[in-house]
Amino acid sequence: MAAVPFLDLKRQYEAIRSEVATRLLLTAQSQRYILGPEVDGFEKETAAYLAVKYAVAVASGTDALILSLKALGIGKGDEVITSDFSFFSSAAVIPWVGAKPVFADIEPDGFNIDPSKIEEKITKKTKAILVVHLFGEPAEMEAIKKVAKKHRLPIVEDACQAIGSEYQGEKIGGIGDVTCFSFYPTKVLGCFGDGGLVATNSNAIYNAVQDLRVHGAKKNDDRKTIGTNSRLDEIQAAVLRIKLKYLETWIAARRNCAAEYRKLLAGIPVQLPEDKKHLRHTYNSFVIKGEKRDQLLDFLRQKEIGAAVYYSRPFHQFSCFKKFVSKKEIFPNSVTAAKTALALPIFPELTGQEIETVAAAIKEFLRS
Ligand SMILES: *Cc1c(COP(=O)(O)O)cnc(C)c1O
Repeated sequence: MAAVPFLDLKRQYEAIRSEVATRLLLTAQSQRYILGPEVDGFEKETAAYLAVKYAVAVASGTDALILSLKALGIGKGDEVITSDFSFFSSAAVIPWVGAKPVFADIEPDGFNIDPSKIEEKITKKTKAILVVHLFGEPAEMEAIKKVAKKHRLPIVEDACQAIGSEYQGEKIGGIGDVTCFSFYPTKVLGCFGDGGLVATNSNAIYNAVQDLRVHGAKKNDDRKTIGTNSRLDEIQAAVLRIKLKYLETWIAARRNCAAEYRKLLAGIPVQLPEDKKHLRHTYNSFVIKGEKRDQLLDFLRQKEIGAAVYYSRPFHQFSCFKKFVSKKEIFPNSVTAAKTALALPIFPELTGQEIETVAAAIKEFLRS
């Protein structure tokens, strides 16, 4: 059997190589590197794509989250509820702005926050709900919005893995109060380094994030607030504007890969990601759940098939977060996910043959 890469970015680069070369040369010739026409154009095009009023490009997805929390005035003495299961950044940004992360368990069948576990975590100090759309699958926003509305809490969305994902026909981006995206190279829309974006329909949040990314609000030579330096480079914006044109095609290709996996893996004793009718999952990752996960990972690696564990540890078990968790809190579903989740190769250029190779190897493992 031939080797299958977990991710091969070179295939995508081949398709856009000449366009990128031309555009990058133009940026070099212009010598405009910071907050110029490419960032401006990218923000407008992305806002239109997401159907939101405002988009602000920043230096990373992590910064998008930090600046969003800051824009909402969240800091010391505040609590923010988030999922117990995600990439480290989804939780770490909360103590980074001085607030306390409060973890809620995920759904038993999926990887997103369980809306029915949120309300019991709300206290007088709760200032926001930070929802993660993990692996490209939207969280159950209708139920989450109901809780948020009842308690008058803003919703911050970590859509770093979910650009182009849809909930009830609506793009993730304009559903909550503020939504954060990442353009880290391995994401569905990736640049040539780090990059991020804040999307919102709120004029106040938009203005605040715009100020925060350039050291704070300036008037004459005075400053009323303190921000940081967090901008997307012109070079990254130029790359992203080219890639944005292909995004829908690439998402369709990812969805085809997922459908192919589901067909070939049907009926075997692993839990496959579902393609729910009211959602458009964009398959930033295709993550299965199964027993003997670690043995399966070893087996695939021996066959030179790329696979990865996302994520091996729920947040409440991290040393740096332990002080925020009480002994009474339990998280059975995130604990199970951390033991059973395995990400298989998925990217737009993955071939049918490669998917067959992966599926055959998994079946061979389960027979042995
Ligand atoms: C990638 C990612 C981030 C952070 O984005 P960076 O651009 O790497 O800072 C945050 N949350 C999730 C769920 C991510 O996947």
